[in-house]
Amino acid sequence: MISAVKGMNDLFGKRAMRWGRMEEDIRRIVENANFTEFRTPILEEIALFKRGVGETTDVVQKEMYDFLDKKGRHVAMRPEGTASVVRAFIEHGIAMNEPMPFKLYYIGPFFRYERPQKGRYRQFHQLGIEIFGDETPQMDAEMIFTACRVLEHFKIDYEVHINSIGCKECRPAYREKLVEYFSSKKEHLCEDCQKRIDTNPLRLLDCKTCNPKAKYHDIPVMTDNLCGSCDTHFKQLKNALEIFHVNGIIDPFIVRGLDYYTRTAFEIVANTGGSQNAVAGGGRYDNLVSDIGGPDTPATGFAMGLERLFDLISEDFYTEPLISAGYALCDEAVDDLVHFAKHMSHHPVRFFADYKPKKFKKALQKADKAGAEFMFIIGEDEAKDKKILMKNLNTGEQKLFGQHEVILIVNELLNYESGKFSATKV
Ligand code: ATP
Ligand code: MG
Repeated sequence: MISAVKGMNDLFGKRAMRWGRMEEDIRRIVENANFTEFRTPILEEIALFKRGVGETTDVVQKEMYDFLDKKGRHVAMRPEGTASVVRAFIEHGIAMNEPMPFKLYYIGPFFRYERPQKGRYRQFHQLGIEIFGDETPQMDAEMIFTACRVLEHFKIDYEVHINSIGCKECRPAYREKLVEYFSSKKEHLCEDCQKRIDTNPLRLLDCKTCNPKAKYHDIPVMTDNLCGSCDTHFKQLKNALEIFHVNGIIDPFIVRGLDYYTRTAFEIVANTGGSQNAVAGGGRYDNLVSDIGGPDTPATGFAMGLERLFDLISEDFYTEPLISAGYALCDEAVDDLVHFAKHMSHHPVRFFADYKPKKFKKALQKADKAGAEFMFIIGEDEAKDKKILMKNLNTGEQKLFGQHEVILIVNELLNYESGKFSATKV
């Protein structure tokens, strides 16, 4: 038997319906804030991620789905969205051709070769937003606020952790302080962190293996080492977040996994106590566009994990749609049912027909199993009189309609549905 590739999931039935509605809601929220969709390919040259995400990051060192194509080109399935969007931003000269700030979003699959577990898959999905051409701390605040709006819409309990990781001016000196601090503690660090002292010392701060931040309480923090302009930026960010009513916790150990961040870095964790509870993260990346060969362009953005978001949304957030089903009880009724199905298809109701004639009792069982609340029956008598019987499976109530009275029928269904929802929704 062939099964799905490890860490990659199928989605169908009620979950697929809920997932689709979650995506629709997300699109509406971000489009209302004037973000427009930006689609890039799944495959990119691996060089893009090496440069864009960073050679020393876990994503590039361990988690890439990369291969040589038939012409020997080294390509990779995108592990995140920012590098691709920046590549496209430069390639299409967007800085010259579009008004700034340029606000975009993407929703789609991403690929990382990680050990699969709950909330961590090899194919997963993200919502991302990016804002190009604006360096203000207020725009960072709006970016973070947008992530919060999505979570609030889905009534999720969360916490925002905020930090500033400085810029080209102030980070090198801080980096040296960290190297100095940890060099004397090398033997107490995990193997990865021993290497990180030289390659990427900031990543020591959020290592989950040896967890230095829990062991040592005098680790130098970036927020004490910011240059004047980063310090002002961070103060203004906190002020703007307050105005947006985003309650952020200052957390100097948020450094983010990807290399490109400058100044603002943030993560949102859900208050569930689970281990994979980071639902979104992001920050400012003022040097990435120019590092990849584009014009000097400040930028800020976040990515949100949709599997993690989906698991946080309560079961009763989406109500099930009303379903109705049509059955023919004899051969003579089949064509009438086809006509009826055709007419029902023009209306905003969820209806399906089962064209194989069957006994009433069998039809009832099938409707029930399919979760239908209404059933339409055309038997021998109905076929003769061009009638159709509508049965409410919850109350047992029955009504006879002419087969062409579809508008009346649809109105009955819609009235019933709206009554049902107003009764359950307070
Ligand atoms: P983590 O620390 O959980 O590995 P990350 O820092 O690697 O997360 P980002 O690169 O910031 O994650 O991606 C943003 C969001 O995408 C994460 O907060 C998470 O919700 C989600 N995400 C990242 N990797 C995966 C994965 N393998 N499976 C499912 N969701 C993921
Ligand atoms: Mg990760």
